[in-house]
Amino acid sequence: MKKYIPYGRQCVDEDDIKEVMKVLRSDWITQGPKIKEFEERIAKYCGAKFAVAFASGTAALHSACFAAGIGKDDIAITSPITFAASANCVLYCGGKPDSADIKSDTYNIDPVEILKRFKKKTKALIPVHFSGQPCDMEEINKIARRHNLIVIEDAAHSLGADFRLKGKYHKVGSCRLSDMAAFSFHPVKHITTGEGGIVTTNNKKFYERLLVFRTHGITRERRLMGKDDGNWYYEMVNLGYNYRITDFQCALGISQLKKLNKFVQRRREIASIYNERFSSVNEIVTPFEKKDVRASYHIYVIKLILEKLKVSRKVIFDDLRNEGIGVNVHYIPVHLQPYYRKRFGYKKGDFPIAEDYYSRALTLPIYPKMTDIDVEFVIKKVKMVINKYRKRG
Ligand SMILES: *Cc1c(COP(=O)(O)O)cnc(C)c1O
Repeated sequence: MKKYIPYGRQCVDEDDIKEVMKVLRSDWITQGPKIKEFEERIAKYCGAKFAVAFASGTAALHSACFAAGIGKDDIAITSPITFAASANCVLYCGGKPDSADIKSDTYNIDPVEILKRFKKKTKALIPVHFSGQPCDMEEINKIARRHNLIVIEDAAHSLGADFRLKGKYHKVGSCRLSDMAAFSFHPVKHITTGEGGIVTTNNKKFYERLLVFRTHGITRERRLMGKDDGNWYYEMVNLGYNYRITDFQCALGISQLKKLNKFVQRRREIASIYNERFSSVNEIVTPFEKKDVRASYHIYVIKLILEKLKVSRKVIFDDLRNEGIGVNVHYIPVHLQPYYRKRFGYKKGDFPIAEDYYSRALTLPIYPKMTDIDVEFVIKKVKMVINKYRKRG
């Protein structure tokens, strides 16, 4: 079989499988003790007070928007260069998602652009730590405090990433400069539970709203109820969903979390090999890493300098796929999706930096199980294809 290297994939070993099997053989396969344990371990890892686990990263984002009180006509601003879920979660609550253009170096949302898009109905900001590099959270936090906005980090790319604040490093998810942070445990993310997600927060009110939203809006907490008919009694106080995760998924998550630091370290190692080996290729821009962060490289994205190439990104993409490299493109700008164009009237040119980025971006494979041989294979093929289409003279 021809060698094919995907852009990302999970790393599940025998010890993970054993932990899942233990739960499957126990009395509780959902709603058991592993959920709470996983939540406590993630909260501790990130340095946050609370965590609530969900059935997916998208469910986590939706629940965070609910907890934030986003409702009819409230605006929440996110990045155009993200997965649709970062904006959809606002729509689920009846709100209106908007975008602010990105910075051309980090591809993260630009705080200056946030201020330009700001309106009276703006209620929340949803910065996305693209590729695992934390956004300019100090500036975003400043804007939020000045205008009384809630900040929900879409941290799906950035488990294990650090940012510096007053000379000290903190984990994304510590919520030192935000209200909540949502993570995903989809197989391509840093650790997996199959499907799954989690929200971290330091705010007890948000924590309680997240818990209730996860189970149909139903509470059994006596102090949150209007009356008490007896031990069977519960109250539905909000319109929630069944967004629960299972115990065996959380057993997998707990086992994976033990290896997270190693996973992140390997991702950083691969990124630095790529950076070094592509530094001499004039047609490629490698990722820029800010001084005050340590990125966790959920994805590794290069930008093509198309002016120096004879062909479009599409040709290079197809050639690399044919050579066995599972390149990808992250992301098609959300505002250019037919649904968003039609519903909100977005058009080409609305976010020019994001659109320029999109025309050049190419995601190369990166995941902890990648061997040095795999990495060299990718480098060789990328160099070969670029060399083939380089403009000369
Ligand atoms: C993966 C991802 C999500 C959604 O997570 P799921 O677990 O797939 O629902 C949201 N936002 C971003 C930026 C993501 O990469």
